[in-house]
Parts: sequence; C-alpha cells; structure tokens
Amino acid sequence: MVRVLGWLIFLGLFMPVLAGTAAPDPHSFANFQQVRTRHLVLDLAVDFTRQQLTGFAEHQLERLDPSINRLVLDSRHLKITTVTFTNDGVHWQKAAYLLGIEDALKGQPLTIQLQNNTKAVRVYYQTTPQASGLQWLTAAQTSEKKQPFLFSQSQAIHARSWIPLQDTPANRITYQARIKTPADLLAVMSADNSANFNRNGDYQFDMPQPLPSYLIALAVGDLHFKAMSADTGVYAEKLWLDRATAEFSDTQKMMDAANQLFGKYPWKRYDLLVLPSSFPFGGMENPRLSFVTPTIITGDKSLISLVAHELAHSWSGNLVTNASWNDVWLNEGFTNYVENRIMQKVYGQPRADMELLLNVRALRNLLTHQAPADSRLQADYRGRDPDEAFHQIPYVKGQLLLLALAQHFGQAQFDQFLRDYFAHFAFQSIETESFVRYFQQQLNSKQSFSEQALSRWLTAPGLPDELALPASDAFARVSVAQQQWLAGKAGLRLLPTTQWSVHEWLHFIDLLPRELTEQQLSELDLAFSLSQSSNAEIFTAWAQLVIPLNYQPIIQPLRQFLLSVGRQKFIVPLYSELKANPQWRSWARQVYREARPGYHPLAQQQLDKLTL
Ligand SMILES: [Zn+2]
Repeated sequence: MVRVLGWLIFLGLFMPVLAGTAAPDPHSFANFQQVRTRHLVLDLAVDFTRQQLTGFAEHQLERLDPSINRLVLDSRHLKITTVTFTNDGVHWQKAAYLLGIEDALKGQPLTIQLQNNTKAVRVYYQTTPQASGLQWLTAAQTSEKKQPFLFSQSQAIHARSWIPLQDTPANRITYQARIKTPADLLAVMSADNSANFNRNGDYQFDMPQPLPSYLIALAVGDLHFKAMSADTGVYAEKLWLDRATAEFSDTQKMMDAANQLFGKYPWKRYDLLVLPSSFPFGGMENPRLSFVTPTIITGDKSLISLVAHELAHSWSGNLVTNASWNDVWLNEGFTNYVENRIMQKVYGQPRADMELLLNVRALRNLLTHQAPADSRLQADYRGRDPDEAFHQIPYVKGQLLLLALAQHFGQAQFDQFLRDYFAHFAFQSIETESFVRYFQQQLNSKQSFSEQALSRWLTAPGLPDELALPASDAFARVSVAQQQWLAGKAGLRLLPTTQWSVHEWLHFIDLLPRELTEQQLSELDLAFSLSQSSNAEIFTAWAQLVIPLNYQPIIQPLRQFLLSVGRQKFIVPLYSELKANPQWRSWARQVYREARPGYHPLAQQQLDKLTL
C-alpha cells in the first residue's frame, strides 16, 4: 500500500533506507539511532462494537543525525489514514509517507518524510481485528459477564499492532495518553492511574519516566480499585477485588524487602491489575501496574511468587532493559534472581529454595529437547519471532548464573553489586557486553571469577557442571513418603500431607512414576482430589501425568479447565499431552474448537501451530 505526494521524488528520498546502516535491533525497522521518538502522545477512542482503537499517535522527535529526513516506525496490521507533521508545534501539514512491504515477522515499516526542522509527526490510524497485541473480550467472556473488556500485551513486538511506533526496547520514551471509552468503563495504563478517576469515559494519563515500547499498556473494563497500602492496590472486576487484595496483601512487604536489597522503588506507585482468565501469561510487568492472571488467586498465597517476579521487574527489565530480545536474559534471569531474593526475605529460605528447585527441574526438562543453540544465554533470535526467546533458558539459567556469582562473591557483596548495577544503568537499555564490562570493573577486578567460566555461562549450550544448588529438607521428606507408599509400606492417608505447600505437592506429582496403574491413580485421586484441584499448577501437573494413562475421571474437569483458562503455561503442555495420546486427540480437537474464541490471539497462534 502506497500513499505518496510526488511519488517519484519521494521514492528517491527513501532509497537511502535500503543502503543505510543495518538496523541495530533485528526485530525492528525503526531508525531510532538517527531520529528517535522521545515523547509519545496517544489520543485513542475505544470502540467495543467494532473492536477497534481509532485516533492518533503523536511522536515528538529528537534528531540525532540532522542529515536524515525520514522517520521510520514499526507497524503491523494497522490502517493508516493520514500523517501530519509540524515544524513549530502549532501548525500541522500533511506529510508524505510510505507503508512498506509486509514482513511476516516485523510487520510493515512506516516511513515518514521530515523537513529539516520538523519537531513532531502525527499518525492517524485504526487498529484491525488482526492486532496481535490486543484482546477484545465480550461481556460473556469476562468474570462478571456484564461489560466487555480490552487489554493489551505489547511484549515482545506487539505494541506495533496497536500503535505505530519505534518498537524496540533500545529506545525509551515518555508518554501521555487520552483514552475515550464507553462512559461506564474505566481505562488504566502503565502510567499514573488514579483511583479517583471521574468515571466518565474520558481518561488522561501521564508517564513521565522513560520506558521501552513493550511496556506501554492499556486495559479497559468494568474495573474497580481497592488499596492495599498507601502505595499499592488492586484493580479488578468486582468479583475478584476482595479475594485479590487478600491474596496480594504481602505486596508492601515485598516492596520493602526489594527496596532494602536493590535500592528505592523507582516508579512511584505499584498496583496490580487482575485480568480475565484468558490472559495468556502469568503476569506482565507494565510499570506502575503489573497485569496478572487470576490463576494465582488460590486463597493461600501459594503462587504469590509471581507478584514478587513482576515487582522485581521494576528494577530488572523496566529500569535496566535488554536493548534487544537476544539479551532477554538480562531482563528475565535477573528478575528470577531478584524474585527469589524477595521470596527469601518475606517467606524464608526453605520456600525460596523449593521454588528455585522447581525452576531448575523445569529447566532440566527443557534441556532434554531444546536445540543447543537456543540453550545459550546469549542467544540469536534474528529472523525469528522474539516471543520464542521466552523460556527457561533466559529465566532459570540466567538466575543460576547470578546465583553462582552470589555464591562466589558472597551474598552481601553481590547484592551491593546489583544495587549499584541498577543505579548505574537506570533508565537505560543495555546489551550483555555492558553487563560484562561493568561486572569485570566493579566486582571482578581481581579476576577471581575466571573469564572462561563467565564466557561458558553466556555462550555455551546446556548447564555448566559446577552447579551448587540448595538442598530442600521438605522435598527430601516428600520423596521418602512417596517411596513408602509406592513400596506398599504406608497407605496414602498416612502420608504427612496436611501441611504440604503447593511446592511439596508439585514435587510429589513430578516424582511419581509415569506408569502408575489405574488403581493407583484412583487411590491418589480419592485421597487428595487432585482431579478437582482448584490450584492451576497442581491441576496441570496432575493432568499431564494422567492424560497419557487414559485416566477417564480427568476428562470433565480438564474440559472445564481448558474452556476457562487461557494461560499458555498450562494450556500448551496440556494440549501437547492430549495430542500425543491417539485415543484423546480428536476429543482435544473438539475442545480446542470450542475454547479457541476465548483464547488470546497469541495463545491461538501457539496452539494452531500444534496442529491438533
Ligand atoms: Zn518476567
């Protein structure tokens, strides 16, 4: 699609795009090293009937290379209606622009012609139903079933499907937004939400701290707010509000622990938004307002480490950001490490150790089938969807590297180093090399941690041999109890399960032999109601065990689960197990057909690839 003024001259102007320096972020067309957006103004109307955002994105520019008279933005499946520019901030004129050929991965480059003194451009546009970064839910798909719901998910490169912008984590912008919604709904963003919004369908936001594009976030629904402390609170549909605030009531304690360990919380407030159960992830660390799945609301705070994780991102990721998705371990590995330190401080070492060991087990499982090149911390996702980069390698292997460094240098010294690292690189986007340089200068100046060892961690596949993991007494007791049952020495009712946490249950299920008899499965189910578990982690672990064994009593609860939960961590492995069982595959196909409209576009994409 081409809309140009003076097409031939224009084409000449744009030719240097092809000959210019290669884009430094392999997942973006943006020329942010020449001309960058420093401030974004959004003005969008939310139309639930058409499932469409309509309005404009204004880019206030900084010219880094004055010889370049074009701005290149990322876009995907957007309908661009017109583009204007201003040289004085007052008068706006039509701008020439070119929407380039679509790339299956990156979308379309939107190239806008600038004059020498152009200060800002406005792109007027509409989103389309293919927007991968938006999920529109009908009222029937929400918890309350009264009002529709919209939420965005911009990470990794989905912001461009609802905003034309320089969609790279290497560039940081501040933003303001005006969002118009139906009058009885509330809009919230990764910005200065106020619990005292006048509910009138016209909302203004300001985010004065620079963030990368993947952290721009919007949700609209029948949302209500309840405070947990002066600086923390929950937004949710009414149905969830009391349960969520009870579940998340330790958030301020986590915040206090993190402040003490890693420096003062840099984003002012910290609120949580409970999304409908179709949210495809556990959580998304949108600054000031983490988006979280309701599947962590269990009534016993057993899955609350996810809140610690999203809060930890306030330092690792949101404050110090990976400059490209190849370095995602700088976000997720550091965050898993910080999360576990917060869990230690608030809930004690034994729980934090169990959570670490469960992470390591998941990592080891992944390593049994992961391509070696993708099991390196410094991976290469050029030419591939960066969503594929989010798995246990950056999260857990990254965490283990930091754990190894903490063990080597001592906990106190390593915490101090991290505190300095976050302060030194605050509000910057960096690559692994910057971390390594800083580490060598600040912590490892005597080279006591060998360069070869560090390089092995970063660039070799798999896990280094010299891994020192904590032992868990609680897990050891679970293993002994299980062996006694399997050896016929103790009945299930005699096992000491009443005090078991979700972690001990997960350890118990993970350890079970994969070839249990129908009678053993029934015995377990009768004793512990595992098929009826309302804890999504336990239910999924159990279902994964019993699906290959054709255990019929799982069928009804599994169907119910797949129809009501859209979190990929659960549904992707469950459908994979179902696909692998020839007797259940066509049943799974039917369930998927029924459930698919309620899943997020990203989950649909993943599951379509499974080809049930
Ligand atoms: Zn994370």
